[in-house]
Amino acid sequence: MDTLSHGLWGAALFGKEKPFAAKHNKKDFWLAFLLGAGPDLISFSPSFIYWAFSGFPAYQRKIGEPPPLSIIPSYVFQLYNITHSLIIWTALFLLFWVFLKKPLWIFCAWALHILCDIPTHTVRYFPTPFLWPFPTPFVNGFRWATPLFLVSNYFLLTSFFLFLKIKKRKQKV
Ligand SMILES: [Zn+2]
Repeated sequence: MDTLSHGLWGAALFGKEKPFAAKHNKKDFWLAFLLGAGPDLISFSPSFIYWAFSGFPAYQRKIGEPPPLSIIPSYVFQLYNITHSLIIWTALFLLFWVFLKKPLWIFCAWALHILCDIPTHTVRYFPTPFLWPFPTPFVNGFRWATPLFLVSNYFLLTSFFLFLKIKKRKQKV
């Protein structure tokens, strides 16, 4: 799924201490947004910044197609493995739980990212290594970068935020 949607879904569902809470304060909203988008931001930002500084060197790219795997540096795949693993996420979630003495619900935005990526990537382009560092049976999902999926997804996101807004307004009355 696209990085912006990951951030928005994370913020919509976990942008507060308790999951699915209607009220968001701004700090929690943006933290959940960053955690939701985090796996992709960490994986792709360094190489994107490098590309930007080198003036986006030309490469064969068709409009609407992602960059070819051959030009993506190997460290991106390493970062992708670490950030898209439910094993790593679970270890961190438990670690936070021990240190904070309560579950850090907002961190579930990160797990949601991984769960959403599993069915929305084909095995040909960044399948989700959700069991890394163990062998992962990759799911051959569908491509998220299609007009039908993007429109449906943003329609659902907009509906969900409207629902939260109406719920918040009703609670105020
Ligand atoms: Zn991702």
